[in-house]
Amino acid sequence: MDLTSVAVTKLKGVGPKLAEKLKRLKITSLQDVLFHLPLRYQDRTRIVAIADLVPGLEVMTTGMVVSCEVLFRRRRSLLCVITDRQGNQLSLRFFHFNQQQQQRLRVGSQVRCFGEVRRGPQQLEIVHPEFQIVSTGAGSSAAPENALTPVYPVTEGLHQLSMRKITDAALAHLKSSDVEELLPASANSGISLKQALITVHRPGPDVDIDALLQGRHVAVQRLVLEELIAHRLSVQQIRNAIKQQGAPVINPEGDLCPRLISSLAFTLTGAQQRVIQEIQADLSDGIPMLRLVQGDVGSGKTLVAAAAAALVVDAGYQVAVMAPTEILAEQHLLSFSGWFEPLGLKIGWLKGKLGAKQKRDALESIAMGQTRIAIGTHALFQQDVSFKKLGLTIVDEQHRFGVHQRLSLREKGVAGDVVPHQLTMTATPIPRTLAMTSYADLDYSVIDELPPGRQAITTVAIPNTRRLQVVERVAEAIKSGRQVYWVCTLIEESEALQANAAEDTLVELQECLPDARVSLVHGRMNPADKEQAMVNFKNHASDLLVATTVIEVGVDVPNASLIIIENAERLGLSQLHQLRGRVGRGSVQSSCVLLFEQGLSQRARDRISTLRETSDGFLIAERDLELRGAGEVLGTRQTGSAQFRIADLMRDKKLLPTVKNITDDITVNYPERVMPLIMRWLGEESPDYGNV
Ligand code: ADP
Ligand code: MG
Repeated sequence: MDLTSVAVTKLKGVGPKLAEKLKRLKITSLQDVLFHLPLRYQDRTRIVAIADLVPGLEVMTTGMVVSCEVLFRRRRSLLCVITDRQGNQLSLRFFHFNQQQQQRLRVGSQVRCFGEVRRGPQQLEIVHPEFQIVSTGAGSSAAPENALTPVYPVTEGLHQLSMRKITDAALAHLKSSDVEELLPASANSGISLKQALITVHRPGPDVDIDALLQGRHVAVQRLVLEELIAHRLSVQQIRNAIKQQGAPVINPEGDLCPRLISSLAFTLTGAQQRVIQEIQADLSDGIPMLRLVQGDVGSGKTLVAAAAAALVVDAGYQVAVMAPTEILAEQHLLSFSGWFEPLGLKIGWLKGKLGAKQKRDALESIAMGQTRIAIGTHALFQQDVSFKKLGLTIVDEQHRFGVHQRLSLREKGVAGDVVPHQLTMTATPIPRTLAMTSYADLDYSVIDELPPGRQAITTVAIPNTRRLQVVERVAEAIKSGRQVYWVCTLIEESEALQANAAEDTLVELQECLPDARVSLVHGRMNPADKEQAMVNFKNHASDLLVATTVIEVGVDVPNASLIIIENAERLGLSQLHQLRGRVGRGSVQSSCVLLFEQGLSQRARDRISTLRETSDGFLIAERDLELRGAGEVLGTRQTGSAQFRIADLMRDKKLLPTVKNITDDITVNYPERVMPLIMRWLGEESPDYGNV
């Protein structure tokens, strides 16, 4: 049976409403459910004693309720304290609760709970644990689970439990049927696709837990292999099509680019000059440019992008500049406007949530060719955007976009049989071999020099117990006219909880720093408020910006000289390096404070010391590669792997030669499998190849 043609609504318990939610996750067929793979796993196979709890870990523990009361503080909450036989205590805190839950947690009940342990005001606590009451008679419900629990990517209003039920139903279906093997025999990986799917969704009690968590289990590797092949096939399809087309020949008549450069308050670094020349050469030869520019945080990539834009505009073509978040796009708008408006060029602006009239005007101006440079978010990908004469697309921080999204913008080509050039910019160093393989032979330029006068950022690691001291440092920085970032992180998938944490921190800091002008940015705020907060910070109308990791890439406020990163132990090296790069962008001595919970793993310790020792992005990327993926379940959602469901380019790089061989085998011997493979893994994101 063809699983792609079985609708999700055929599954038990999936009605039209649920189907709607699933659609948001791009799940419409039974096959989509089966390839909606767990993000990570939770270990409920063992119970950790209260005495052995460590902040930062997700665990299952148990104890007897000794008190349970409703508190009326800033926010109404339920605080329940449990204890073990030795008298060690743990708090369970609920901000949302009902009477029934309160009843069940009455004094004397034996509770088993699961959640992330953190340091509370009095003692360790778990906020919103999942819990069950276990009878002391140790019945069957008293046994912990005998296998790892999968955690799925979910969406608003769709909970883990429903996702688990849906995958249960799909797996039941799979067991009585089969899933089409699309890899040729040359891919022989020692496990069937069916078995691999079953194992990854529902690892049995006998599975090697460590191998699974680290992604080296044969079941995981089987799926990784197929996913990487699907991606490579897809990129190849697009590239082949592109290569057969021409591109605009950019031979600027005017002097916009030299004028831009001479209007700057600084001179270009040698590296910037070299990269601009490389780009200029690409643009002039009539073959579509596919160039990746890598430059460490603060190396001045935006200006290189602007110079490229100037060349293209001067030759009579339009330029689209795309950033992954609204904040970043907004910032490019500010930079580009600052550079180009004095030269008589107005910049167009396109984002998701423009008013109807604004949007119509923006679209019209782009379509008529009046807008020479349009800046925006993914809104620029949308179908209703059509350029009159698009000559170049610039994609910033490209690892946040899927390769396919990136390439699909090319379809908005200029008239006839030519396609626009493309320039992508990233701060993440990509080892050359990796870049060549996964990006299917992009051209690559490196800005390997920072503007002069930058001072090294001092990095210190401080335990959360000395938080007050850190707050004092913040106060001092603000008093001397500097600005400060305070970054809140959580491992939760839920943006809502992230936002809560940031809001709590905001209140806390506001209390400690009554004179400071504090603002807040997180992913759940409405875009207008977010924008306002960023603009305020940029204009120094606020001193302290409390933010979630939404500020991770690209935000540029040279007056900010101090950044505090909470729970630094949970973030990967590259992400920390990116965050740290928010400061040290001016000529002031800057610092980065990594706040961590005690009880650091060795790996977390290594990461923090690497960061303290070096600010070299290449070195950090290399270390990251060495340190990552080995058993640390936290921090699995590294940027860079975000576009994959299960593969992790760094972890799985040893598969790349095999990926290449099998991809070639498929292309030559099984061309009819190419599209089914691409659709299975990339689904709707697959561009419409017919148009390329
Ligand atoms: P990134 O490479 O991280 O995107 P930006 O393009 O945001 O870096 O540049 C960081 C800061 O350095 C900006 O304020 C920018 O105006 C400034 N800058 C860029 N090039 C130079 C240069 N050659 N000399 C001095 N400052 C520069
Ligand atoms: Mg940037």
